[in-house]
Amino acid sequence: MNTHIPLKGIEVGDIGPKGGYQAKDNGYLYFNNFSIPRCSLLNRYTKVDSDGNFSISGNPRFAYATMMVTRIGIIYFASYNLVKALVIATRYSIQRKQFNTLEEGKSEKRIIDYQAQQAAFIPILAFAFSGFFTNVSGLYDEMMHKINTKNDFKLMKELHSLCSCLKAFYTEEAFAYLKTIRELCGGHGFLANSNLPYIIDVFAPFVTLEGDNYVMYQQTAKHIIKSVTDVLRGKKIKGNLEYINDIMSYNKYDLK
Ligand SMILES: Cc1cc2nc3c(=O)[nH]c(=O)nc-3n(C[C@H](O)[C@H](O)[C@H](O)COP(=O)(O)OP(=O)(O)OC[C@H]3O[C@@H](n4cnc5c(N)ncnc54)[C@H](O)[C@@H]3O)c2cc1C
Repeated sequence: MNTHIPLKGIEVGDIGPKGGYQAKDNGYLYFNNFSIPRCSLLNRYTKVDSDGNFSISGNPRFAYATMMVTRIGIIYFASYNLVKALVIATRYSIQRKQFNTLEEGKSEKRIIDYQAQQAAFIPILAFAFSGFFTNVSGLYDEMMHKINTKNDFKLMKELHSLCSCLKAFYTEEAFAYLKTIRELCGGHGFLANSNLPYIIDVFAPFVTLEGDNYVMYQQTAKHIIKSVTDVLRGKKIKGNLEYINDIMSYNKYDLK
């Protein structure tokens, strides 16, 4: 402990250079024939007794709650990065002048005054703001309150489904939009001191980390398919997907 040198049988290290997201170090820890005393286990929800028997204590669904709170944070993080990039790009577009297209023919036009530039910026701005209003964190607080006061986990499936698709959707779109924003600043957007390449670099892995987006979309699809199946079997469902209860009245589809 005094030297901090790993004990025999333990190896620690850095996983190696990454293709972005350098702000964070990712390490590894490797145990080889190394016994850890039971008193040192991080065993809030799982236990190993002195005979080596493994057991789960408490509700393992709590683990989902931790992932949810991170995914909710990522939805806001996507919007936050877009807004940051938009501030840089719109300010640049106001002072950058290109081409003598004005009728008087004396001065060049600010690039923000080109309709094409505005048409590219405005949907991104709207998208960025929408992320701040998703209010999944409100639903999360409600879920945690019900879990803590009544041991009621009913909201969990719906929230997991919502967080999964929103995490995937917002990171996928934001990543694509960040690239567009950089392009809207022309060559200067590629300069490191515009900060745009850095913002893109930091954001790049968010389509993968905390759940690969392909897998995230599947989580939501699974929940929807399960809900449709329940309704077709005569069960009434509650929550965001309640509208599916009316599915049987859509006579033109023979869903059975
Ligand atoms: C920069 C960075 C930092 C990270 N930091 C951390 C950290 O601090 N802590 C931590 O624990 N983890 C961390 N991760 C790991 C991250 O959470 C995982 O990389 C991520 O969840 C994806 O898992 P995976 O790498 O095992 O990919 P895989 O699951 O192997 O996915 C690879 C491919 O297989 C496809 N695939 C996988 N499963 C299915 C399926 N069921 N159906 C269809 N296709 C499928 C995926 O779509 C994907 O295209 C980090 C990752 C990155 C990139």
